[in-house]
Amino acid sequence: MSLEITHLGSGSRGNATLLSTNETNVLIDCGFSLIQTEKRLAALGIKGEEIDSIIVTHNHGDHAKSAERASKKWNAELHCNLETATRMGWEPMRVCRTFGSLERVVCGTDFSFIGVPVPHNDADNVAIITSSGKNERAAFLTDLGESTLELKKHLEGCKHISIEANYDQKKLIMGPYPDSLKRRISGRGGHLSNFQTSKLLSEVMHSGLNSIVLTHLSEKNNAPHLAESEVLYHIGEEYNGGIAISKQNGPEFSHFLGQEEVEKIRAN
Ligand SMILES: [Zn+2]
Ligand SMILES: [Zn+2]
Repeated sequence: MSLEITHLGSGSRGNATLLSTNETNVLIDCGFSLIQTEKRLAALGIKGEEIDSIIVTHNHGDHAKSAERASKKWNAELHCNLETATRMGWEPMRVCRTFGSLERVVCGTDFSFIGVPVPHNDADNVAIITSSGKNERAAFLTDLGESTLELKKHLEGCKHISIEANYDQKKLIMGPYPDSLKRRISGRGGHLSNFQTSKLLSEVMHSGLNSIVLTHLSEKNNAPHLAESEVLYHIGEEYNGGIAISKQNGPEFSHFLGQEEVEKIRAN
């Protein structure tokens, strides 16, 4: 039994990640249009109707855009916390099931997750820590201005980590954004820089970590080679697993929890 992890795409124009066990298909975030999401799932041979649950991390459009429509059309359970439900106008029980911080939610027979609160402007965002198989854990975290002690505790022991590397500090400072926006992005409720992500990864590094995927790279304030080289610089010598970058237009690859191999998906 393994957990197959496939990013359908990641960035400020949309985010969605497909997690599949033998029994259960779960989407973390549904931030593309419904047509785009179905197209990307179809590239993997999956129909929307095969999705059992959709977990929405927070209320921003690039994470929540078509979640309600997809949930209705596919008859998939929609999960989010109360603040996200309120901000999205989703009525708990009727439209979505709400979860509390660190509350374990079971989806199907072989998959569960908890939401760990993370700081992010204008949202009650959560990092998602999943558990499947023989209690193998994977982490999915994006859109946070900084890490927290609680988050670090939950990242320890995870076999897979998908984490945002939003901006390169130098590129952001030198870039075209107004100062107020630069301050917001780099502030406590903004996004993680390549350096912050590298530091966090180096702090939670352990020999059982098999795969890292860098996500939500800013197209203006970052570049894949900058993010990857900064992370490798900080974790390089201790880390034996794979590192990949999920770009805006996926899916491009899948990871299997507990295995090092990465399967490339044929582009069509
Ligand atoms: Zn986002
Ligand atoms: Zn956000």
